[in-house]
Amino acid sequence: MSAIDTTRFRDALLEERKRVAAAIENLHEDHQGSMADESGEDAVFDNHLADTATETYDRELDYTLEENSEHVLTEIDGALRRIADGSFGRCRTCDGLIPEERLEALPWATECIDCRRREERG
Ligand SMILES: [Zn+2]
Repeated sequence: MSAIDTTRFRDALLEERKRVAAAIENLHEDHQGSMADESGEDAVFDNHLADTATETYDRELDYTLEENSEHVLTEIDGALRRIADGSFGRCRTCDGLIPEERLEALPWATECIDCRRREERG
């Protein structure tokens, strides 16, 4: 069994983690800004249903984005943990090695392509 060069993947994961964390931070800042605006405008809030609907819609989009980002962050943390404990690059289902080219495309992959496909088929 040949060991994977995890240093390379750890660097890539840490880089990606930084990027995702910054994106999440941006989203949080946007929310704080709009909440502060609203608290000063309680009186007109109910009279602008159309505006409110648009605002809610925008915010739902943001939350979806945030959920995805936080999901990715969890995946990245999991991969970094696996690098630390030596199980990185191993399929959690069949315990085979995940090909490096798959890890390059998706460093936080937890399954080899065969197992992934099998799972997707149900
Ligand atoms: Zn597998």
